[in-house]
Amino acid sequence: MTTLTNLLDFDPAQLVAYCADLGEKPFRAKQLQRWIHQFGASDFDSMTDLAKSLREKLKSRAEVRAPAIVSDKTASDGTRKWLVDVGNGNAVETVFIPEENRGTLCISTQAGCAVNCRFCSTGKQGFNRNLTVAEIIGQLWMAEFELRRTKGIEPGPKGERQITNVVMMGMGEPLLNYEPTVTALKMMLDDNAYGLSRRRVTLSTSGVVPNIDKLSQDVPVAMAVSLHASNDALRDILVPLNKKYPLRELMAACKRYLEFAPRDFITFEYCMLDGFNDSDEHARELIALVNDPVVGVNCKFNLIPFNPFPESGLTRSKNPRIKAFAEVLMNAGIVTTVRKTRGDDIDAACGQLAGEVKDRTRVAERMEKMAEYQKKFGADFGRIVEIPT
Ligand code: SAH
Ligand code: SF4
Repeated sequence: MTTLTNLLDFDPAQLVAYCADLGEKPFRAKQLQRWIHQFGASDFDSMTDLAKSLREKLKSRAEVRAPAIVSDKTASDGTRKWLVDVGNGNAVETVFIPEENRGTLCISTQAGCAVNCRFCSTGKQGFNRNLTVAEIIGQLWMAEFELRRTKGIEPGPKGERQITNVVMMGMGEPLLNYEPTVTALKMMLDDNAYGLSRRRVTLSTSGVVPNIDKLSQDVPVAMAVSLHASNDALRDILVPLNKKYPLRELMAACKRYLEFAPRDFITFEYCMLDGFNDSDEHARELIALVNDPVVGVNCKFNLIPFNPFPESGLTRSKNPRIKAFAEVLMNAGIVTTVRKTRGDDIDAACGQLAGEVKDRTRVAERMEKMAEYQKKFGADFGRIVEIPT
């Protein structure tokens, strides 16, 4: 049996090269690309302006296949979450967040995640595998046309676009699945596909320093960095990748990235954990860090109230604490927003995306490390409860 080439695996240049191999001119690749990414077409017979001979060639060797939808839920606030099958019992989540003037799609880049952040349910399930390009861009392809179908909006460039912004903030660490992420990004930005501007696509990373630099050369989209801690000792525990790329190195990479970025600031995401990283002292430490004369960086803060998941053993900071923390940052002139929690009733909020959760991590070991930190730095861990292992 011949395996079919999935055309969702290509960026625009690769699609041109594929068509050239079939003896076709570059403009045919553009037509084909528009059928796929602007009309959501997967049936070559429907691509009426392609020559019949080309359609026959494509039918015998190619396909347009996005990952299959396992479930599709809409929350009371309009947030819509799809669980998509990526084979071998793995599933990842794609979340659409409608707002007044925009529609944001949050997409996943890996099944599971190896970074293993303490507060993240994706990390808790361990790393399963990298998604392919077709699985990454396929989430956008599937979601745009599902959303249009639901609303009865025609496919094609004239139909009202449902997804105006993309954030790579779903499951997985995009910069640890570098090449497929970059290929998918190139398609998102292409005028003959989704035509998103670089400002409307945000990649969120836990801080893979060498690949932040690489991205600045390949496709410098807007950048969000998951900070979550104001010093290395705390960040080593919360985001274990910090041991490899500590804060000052990360900050320096952010500063370099800004020379190429579509915006003049980095967004720092900061998950608010009750009694853990949310004191005024932590906020002041952050101010010193981002104003450092050597590695300081122009930034905004986005505080994310921690979204609990079963057996996390952590609690969300109280609203007045979040407000006070934000005020310390704002009084120092740093633009700070607090992320609204969306899709609570369908477990679609940040960090709740788990697919099928299997706890493969050594939670007990980490609890011990936290106890050590507590002794050393006198941190108050609030209401951390015993986690069954
Ligand atoms: N791996 C990337 C992108 C995916 S996570 C990264 O870490 O940046 C997207 C954002 O959600 C990150 O800032 C992450 O730290 C945050 N997050 C993870 N778990 C969370 C939780 N339980 N509550 C709130 N935010 C969480
Ligand atoms: Fe991975 Fe991001 Fe979750 Fe950390 S927060 S475990 S990097 S998905």
